This record gives sequence, C-alpha cells and structure tokens, in this order.
Amino acid sequence: MQTVALDVAAVRRDFPVLDQTVDGKPLVYLDSAASSQKPRQVIDAISRYYLHDHANVHRGVHELARRATEAYESSRERIARWLNAADAHEVVWTRGTSEALNLVAFSLGEGLGPNDEVVISEMEHHSNLVPWQLLSARKGVRLRYTGLTDDGRLDLDHLASLLGPRTRVVSLPHVSNALGTINPVQKIGALVRGRSDAVFILDGAQGAPHLPLDVQALGCDIYAFSGHKMCGPTGIGGLWGRRALLDEMPPYQGGGEMIERVFHEYSTWAEVPHKFEAGTPNIAGTVGLAAAVDYLEDVGLDAIHQHEMALTRRAVSLLSEVDGIRILGPTDLDDRAGVVPFVLEGTSAQDVATILDAQGIAVRAGHHCAQLVVDRFELSATVRASFYLYNSTEEVKRLVAGVETARRLLLP
Ligand code: PLP
Repeated sequence: MQTVALDVAAVRRDFPVLDQTVDGKPLVYLDSAASSQKPRQVIDAISRYYLHDHANVHRGVHELARRATEAYESSRERIARWLNAADAHEVVWTRGTSEALNLVAFSLGEGLGPNDEVVISEMEHHSNLVPWQLLSARKGVRLRYTGLTDDGRLDLDHLASLLGPRTRVVSLPHVSNALGTINPVQKIGALVRGRSDAVFILDGAQGAPHLPLDVQALGCDIYAFSGHKMCGPTGIGGLWGRRALLDEMPPYQGGGEMIERVFHEYSTWAEVPHKFEAGTPNIAGTVGLAAAVDYLEDVGLDAIHQHEMALTRRAVSLLSEVDGIRILGPTDLDDRAGVVPFVLEGTSAQDVATILDAQGIAVRAGHHCAQLVVDRFELSATVRASFYLYNSTEEVKRLVAGVETARRLLLP
C-alpha cells in the first residue's frame, strides 16, 4: 500500500473541541468508536443550512422548501458517491446504524417464518443482535451465532457450517467495535453466496468512518452506517441497499412522505428510498453528514486508515510492555482498526478508565454494547481506547503513561 501522509496538527485545528483541558490537563480524546468529534466544516454547514435554507422537504412549492429539498437530496447523492452506490435511490436515511438494522430486520423479517434462519455472530454490537432476537420472538425465525476464534476473529469454518438452504439472512459487522477486528467481508460474501441465497448485511458503524468504501465491490446486499461516528452529527445515518432488494421490502414505519396514495382501507407506497422515510427527516443532519464526507475525503480515507494503523501499532507495542496487561483482538495488526481493548489483571476496567479520566484521557470501559464478546473472553468489561484522524503519537504515549499510573495506584 502506498504511504499517504496525514498532517495531524492541521487536522486538529479543524476540531475546536479538542483544544481544552480537563482538570488542568490537555484533553486526550480516545473514545471515537463511541462517537467522533466534529470539524468546524461540519458545524458550519449545519449552521449555514439553519441560517439560510430551512423549511420542510418535498411538500412545498416555495423557495425555502425547494432549497431544503435540494440540500436533502443532494446530500443523499453525496453519500451515494462516497459509497460508490450505483444510484442515489439506494441510499435510505435513518437515525443511524441501529435504526437501519431495525428497519432491515423488521422489513425483511415480514417474509420469514419458523423454517428460516438468520445467522449473526458473537461479535455483534447489540444493534445487530437485539433486532434479530425481536424478529425471532415475533416470527419464530431461528437465530444462529457464528463463534469467535481466540484472537478475536469470526470463525469462518463455523460460519460455513451454519449456512444452508434455510439461511435467509447473514448479518455481520464490517469492523468490530469491541475487538477492532476488520472482517474479511469479501471472502465472507463469497462464502455466503456459495452456500445459500441469503441476504448479506454488513453493520458498517465502525467500517464506514475508517475505511475507503465501495459497496458494489464489498459483495454485500445492505450496508448500514452512523453519521456521528464519522465526523457527522448525531441522529443521522443510513443504509445502502441493492435497488431490487429495497423495492421488494415492505415499509418499516408509516406516516407522511412514504405513501403514494392513501385510501380508506389501504395505502400504496412511494418509491424507494422515500418508502422507508416516514415523517419529517433530519434535514440538517444530512447536510452535516455530506459535509463530513467532504471533509474525510479531503483528508483522504487511505491516509486516515494508515494513520490509525500507525497509532494502533504504537499503542499495542507500548501497552504490551505494561505488566499484567492483556490486549484483545487480532495479533496481526493489519487486520485491526484503530480500536485497542485491554484489561489490566487484578483491576476493574471502570477503575482504570476513572484514573485515566483524572489525567484528561477519555476512554470507555464496559462491555461496549457487545456483551457476547466479553462473555466469550470470560470478562465482564474491558477498557477501550479508540483512535481517529485527529489523534497523535504523543496522545498514545499519554495513554500508556496513564495506564502505568493506574497500575501503580490500583496494584500496590
Ligand atoms: N454497530 C456497531 C459495530 C457499533 O459500534 C455501534 C455503535 O457503537 C452501532 C452498531 C450502533 O450505532 P448507533 O448507536 O449510531 O446506532
């Protein structure tokens, strides 16, 4: 891979929130897997929209309604270009990955029953697990779990053994939020297609912010993402789906904007994607997300990925020297994103995170909404440091020094 440089100091100037102290110490924000910070360019785009252009979309003939509709639909086109979708109609706006996956589980689930199987994994964020459990309770669909290897990868032999004529859906994470594993999704797509007619869904919440994407090359049928994890605002995200599949799927919610014609007894549906977008949408959110994609592409997704990999290598190498530390996830660092989960033997993850916070270092402690992952590794919680384009090598060193301090304070 060609090396592309990223100017961290210049990037940081775009993120005013990073320039502050916590308890007198410079903030080190290592919680981007939960939610990323926002550059000035995104904040300005949202502000411009509200200052000049806001009205409701699609319904009005007046100037502001036209501008708001144009902003909303051109943001969709921007997202389609970023994803390399064949058609902007294949992009459905949602509140984020959770809503996208609930939409898909509900809508695809309408056609499923007790003879059908949905395959997920023990690597799931609860957003790609609970919606399928709800479907299972509603329709009797059998839910099957792909196991994990000891170094935190999907067990592909196990996955292969679960696939067959009854498999109607396979839904897996592109990148694990709890382990950092980048899953070999093209290989998995080929496996799924070779052994079943299942719809192949990717939870892209942790993939979309960090990796160059081409949904047509990934080999999936549906890809879900969240704006707030990729420098965009909260409350906006979406899914990409193959047009023919989206056309077949029934609506998820009813209301304004999603109908073609309403009669007393029934209604007919608007075209995709509007069929899935009931009610007044988060218009400003779509503007902010389009600005976030502009920003990430200006910096360069290859450069961002390489920068995160360099930080991860540094963090794993330095943390490995701390006595009693156990780092979870693939040991081959090429297969992991900028997520470093660890435990310090004899301490609780919460205590370590609290001591780090006292030094201005923001990390997350807990099961990270992936309870089956911590169960699989016989833990109750991990500390998770996660990196993004604005983090520096200096901050990695502060993290490691902070963990050393936690060790000294917690383990006499
Ligand atoms: N999937 C994964 C892998 C995640 O990491 C997250 C959030 O942490 C989600 C789904 C849910 O995303 P959201 O809360 O934005 O809907």
